[in-house]
Amino acid sequence: MNMIPNAAKAFIPADYKSAVKPVWCPGCGDHSVLISFQRALAELALPPEQVAIISGIGCSSRIPAYTNCYGFHGVHARPDLTVLVASGDGDGFSIGGNHFLHACRRNIDLTYVVMDNRIYGMTKGQPSPTTEPDWDTAIAPGGTGLSPFHPLVIALASGANFIARGFSGDIGGCAKLIVDAVRTPGFSFVQILSPCVTFRDDQQKSWKNLVHAAIVPETDDPSRAARRLMTDDGFNTGVLYRGHRKPYQPIPLAHSAPSHLESEFAI
Ligand code: SF4
Ligand code: MG
Repeated sequence: MNMIPNAAKAFIPADYKSAVKPVWCPGCGDHSVLISFQRALAELALPPEQVAIISGIGCSSRIPAYTNCYGFHGVHARPDLTVLVASGDGDGFSIGGNHFLHACRRNIDLTYVVMDNRIYGMTKGQPSPTTEPDWDTAIAPGGTGLSPFHPLVIALASGANFIARGFSGDIGGCAKLIVDAVRTPGFSFVQILSPCVTFRDDQQKSWKNLVHAAIVPETDDPSRAARRLMTDDGFNTGVLYRGHRKPYQPIPLAHSAPSHLESEFAI
């Protein structure tokens, strides 16, 4: 399930903090995303023990340790809890890209937050799937020349039910998007532009001037959403698409009995 209402107790963001101090570089956008998570959970009034934060690998994926919710920091990684999954553009779209596609396709009821800095930060700055083709570095002289992966378009085409974009510098805005994502049934995808101040500061410090609230209201029409996302400048923020797909439900056990399977294959 995506959310367990708990109107009885009020929470504050500090209720979700762990004793572990973040090791992210000072100024990294991920610090702000962590605060957005804590604000969103307080707004949702979810007890920490009813939330699971799951992550893959990379700088962004250290996030479960910094909260006191249940957490799973795995390598390219569901319980009856409200599930938030955190990752970055490297593990989310490349190493774990296949899982991203099929989680969208199944419309699994969880909130997937990707801190996108268009680079592999933890492994010292290699181009990621969202890196610009002409980003010239010692590791990729002249740039990769590869078209960047467009995660929002791919999410829409693959069946995600909620698609939004935020900017880590807007903590309140990101918290609001996460609240909205958790409250929307099915697979909710939130891309958060989160600058890497260590490896891409020259190019990404301008993001704070480029991001802007989307002027077109959110749509539930996939065709309109597709046109909009295909012409997107990459800096529109807000909820961009919210559909009506039912979340994936596993087939009840009784229907999974061998006799049921045999009838499925009967000619
Ligand atoms: Fe953040 Fe980049 Fe430092 Fe990783 S390397 S913690 S992404 S600033
Ligand atoms: Mg990254």
